[in-house]
Amino acid sequence: MTGIGVMRWAHDPGPPRFSGMFNLGFHLGRHLGRELLQIVSRAGATLAGALLVIGCTGPSKTANTTPALRVYVLECGNVTINDLSLLTPGEDEGTAKKLTNSCFLIDHPKGKLLWDTGIDDRLGPEPVTVFNGGFDLSVTKPLLPQLEEIGVTPDEVDFLALSHFHDDHSGNANHFGGATLLIQRAEFDAAFGPNPELYGFDAKSYAELSAERARVLEGEHDVFGDGRVRILPAPGHSPGHQVLFIELEQTGPVVLSGDLYHFTGARERRTVPSFNADEAATRASMMAIESFLEARGATLWIQHDFEQISSLRHAPAYYD
Ligand SMILES: [Zn+2]
Repeated sequence: MTGIGVMRWAHDPGPPRFSGMFNLGFHLGRHLGRELLQIVSRAGATLAGALLVIGCTGPSKTANTTPALRVYVLECGNVTINDLSLLTPGEDEGTAKKLTNSCFLIDHPKGKLLWDTGIDDRLGPEPVTVFNGGFDLSVTKPLLPQLEEIGVTPDEVDFLALSHFHDDHSGNANHFGGATLLIQRAEFDAAFGPNPELYGFDAKSYAELSAERARVLEGEHDVFGDGRVRILPAPGHSPGHQVLFIELEQTGPVVLSGDLYHFTGARERRTVPSFNADEAATRASMMAIESFLEARGATLWIQHDFEQISSLRHAPAYYD
């Protein structure tokens, strides 16, 4: 299968349809006091977690294979959509649906890649309603302690890639300013241009990322040079939205969806959310990625799909 990177979508973002996706910053102040208390209790939880890791056994490795490649599934917040028709225009009006939010740590012999950073840990467990009442968001399991539990500090993350820059994916990005950012050209221009809010991006949520040191991509990118971890362009949800292909030895090939779809039913119906940047580009991306999945026999992990993601084993367990 020829990589889909040879495909080019000449898409014009056109006039952005909304401004301010989730705008979490406003809500964070009232959570900070509670956060201090949580830090204290987390310290105890972290020690317990570390002890658990010592006793944890993942799938056993066989000898004489290629060096281990692991994927850790991380919980990255809770999402309830209060009107599903935002994702399925013309259908499901007034229907609420529980979604989730997930991030992934890809541990390759040549380095560590963090895929998405979730909802800002500081939001805390009490649901906050955003996007004109469209979504309720909360964080019951912060990202950083989950990384700590698998022995990874933010400084040890070599590469950071966000499927896109909406703040349910960029929420904790500021902890990873030392990593090399892997970002598509169109996303870079939107996120680091003069008006990121026009694309629903909250520049504060990624202020610590260096535009100068970013590796700006023009399509497909082989992260570690051996073809096993590849970023694939899938524009439409945002101007430079991307997905991640991972060739796992035991598990088989997997693609992390970003927000190409938000839940399995959306994939089946090929619905395009009303707030996507470009509907035509979204449909082209859906076709391209579906072709890729079929050709590679790959499984799509839909990052916001509550039922599917809940069925996966989470860190400190892993897939290899
Ligand atoms: Zn999202």
